[in-house]
Amino acid sequence: MADALLNIEGLAAGYGDVQVLWDIGLDVSAEEIVCIVGSNGAGKTTLLHTISGLVRKFGGRIEFAGRDLTKATANEVLAAGIAHVPEGRRLFKGLTVEDNLLLGAYLRNDRAGIRQDLEYVYNLFPILSERRRQDAVTMSGGEQQMCAIGRGIMSRPTLLMIDELSLGLAPALVERLGDALRKINEDGLTILLVEQDVMAAFELASRAFVIETGRVATAGQTSVLADDPRIRQAYLGI
Ligand code: ATP
Repeated sequence: MADALLNIEGLAAGYGDVQVLWDIGLDVSAEEIVCIVGSNGAGKTTLLHTISGLVRKFGGRIEFAGRDLTKATANEVLAAGIAHVPEGRRLFKGLTVEDNLLLGAYLRNDRAGIRQDLEYVYNLFPILSERRRQDAVTMSGGEQQMCAIGRGIMSRPTLLMIDELSLGLAPALVERLGDALRKINEDGLTILLVEQDVMAAFELASRAFVIETGRVATAGQTSVLADDPRIRQAYLGI
């Protein structure tokens, strides 16, 4: 799709000499929620890291908002409007919730805008406001995930990429986080979600890309994929 917000073509990437991603094609339109699903080790995390400029590309092209980001550094990707919420939250130990959130805005210097976005995050997740002076890593897993999402929002991105939203969280919390993602999506943010819980991912996303051994095995509308017998058997356990 030429007019997609994010457009990836023929992407190959890996670690050292070891190639992990092969000929990945993926597109995300503005204001969509798209998910990437697949089994353990398929390359989902590597794909997000490659988009973020953290993993070496062997070939292919990444375009975002009409700009070529193929050779962009991690800071340039962030400055271009792509924020990455990493697997395992990766909050900074010894820093308060608020300082962790503010770190998400480290490339910005519009103080009023940063304040405004902080209030937006606190409205979205009131518990973070209550805990704003607490060491972030002493919070529960769900609260830490809220903080990690909030930190992503604080860069005021156009696209928010989230790796393993639901990992280790109780279903009720996953629901709660899903509601928050719907809200920020309605407010205009585009979301690319990596998720092992295919059911949860399909409920949130309008389209999905299924990755198997580093390649896009299939892609389409989640409503259609949810009825595909192969997908149901392999990923939904039905
Ligand atoms: P999971 O859900 O288990 O994290 P995934 O689909 O996200 O799986 P990746 O973590 O991207 O998969 O891993 C894809 C492949 O790349 C695996 O074979 C993995 O061993 C390899 N890999 C991941 N990180 C590195 C690294 N830093 N160095 C070398 N190989 C790596």
